[in-house]
Amino acid sequence: MSATALFGNYARSNLSFDHGEGVWLVTKDGRRFLDCGSGIAVNALGHSHPHLVKALQEQAGRLWHVSNLHQMPEGERLAQRLCDASFAEKVLFVNSGAEAMEAAIKCARRYHYDKGDKDRYHIVTFEGAFHGRTIATIAAGGQAKYLEGFGPKAPGFDQVPAGDLDALKKAVGPQTAAIALEPIQGEGGIREIPTDFLRAIRKLCDENGILLIFDEIQTGVGRTGKLFAHQWSGVEPDLMAIAKGIGGGFPMGACLATADAAAALAPGTHGTTFGGNPLAMAVGNAVLDVVLEEGFLEDVRKKGLSFKQKLAGLVDGHPKVLAEVRGNGLMLGLKCVVPAGEYVAAAREVGLLAVPAGDNVVRIMPPLIMSEEEIAIAVERLEEAALAMEAKLVEGAAE
Ligand SMILES: *Cc1c(COP(=O)(O)O)cnc(C)c1O
Repeated sequence: MSATALFGNYARSNLSFDHGEGVWLVTKDGRRFLDCGSGIAVNALGHSHPHLVKALQEQAGRLWHVSNLHQMPEGERLAQRLCDASFAEKVLFVNSGAEAMEAAIKCARRYHYDKGDKDRYHIVTFEGAFHGRTIATIAAGGQAKYLEGFGPKAPGFDQVPAGDLDALKKAVGPQTAAIALEPIQGEGGIREIPTDFLRAIRKLCDENGILLIFDEIQTGVGRTGKLFAHQWSGVEPDLMAIAKGIGGGFPMGACLATADAAAALAPGTHGTTFGGNPLAMAVGNAVLDVVLEEGFLEDVRKKGLSFKQKLAGLVDGHPKVLAEVRGNGLMLGLKCVVPAGEYVAAAREVGLLAVPAGDNVVRIMPPLIMSEEEIAIAVERLEEAALAMEAKLVEGAAE
């Protein structure tokens, strides 16, 4: 029996952090780790960002919670700013990524229901997808390892191979309410969906009255160097789930929608006690203050390109450890030859935190504020980790 009273559902490292400063996490005994995981793409502005700390402290001294029975001026402001910067015309605030996806799914189903299409509730998703861990979102993600043992899979989710337009066309029918996907699969291993394919999906949706849902929970809020990753393609969704980066570490999420789609959730149809709470709204607004500042996203694009180029050099130099670099902006992936989990552990040993993903990929997703100097340190440490893995391979071969 382990000594902790916490559930054992996470495989945790033995690290315990005391505080954070920018892109660094510091243990009690003073060891410093370069954070290239951002708490799984959450700490978009790093740790202890003064503007976020100030916003949260000010709000905490004034008002924490009033519920959605009353007006929420800071929420209205954040919603308007998200709409001004995207396709969206309406926003619903929630507390997590999975809840944002649930809201998008419910909205899409109810949209067709309201039009009299009572059996039109199927959502088509893609293999390798990840949409969260609730009963509905594990069905949407479709991964057997997340579905096993949790009772019957929630009905109404059909899955097709990523990038297979013919399969998608076959899966779509009069029962299809929506198609849902991540513009870049995150947990799936930083797998980019080509623009051509996104365009083809949008066309298919338009021709058949199907709603398009983007899951930008991981890709959104500047991660790829645009506010939202789909803005690289020009293809716009009807509904979009965001979370992770928008709170910069404060738990929050949102479902963004066209006015037409949002109208499906009339008074009483959906709700959440905490969603859009003043603390979350204060921090969300503070995150946007920084991310929407002139030049910020351009800087992310520049640093992303530079980081990716350096990682390409690293891959070339260590073909027995690394196979490929992928991704866009500061959402990068190193496809490994060695087991990705072992490379992440080797990087941790030399003071760098990264996050494993599917397809044997290591995700490199630093805070968007990481400087060129810190990128250089990250590449040095990733090289050290590659050398350590090579030494292990030689040892293994000698045995
Ligand atoms: C993290 C993530 C989710 C789930 O978000 P939670 O906040 O963990 O519920 C859903 N979709 C994608 C693409 C994610 O990266």
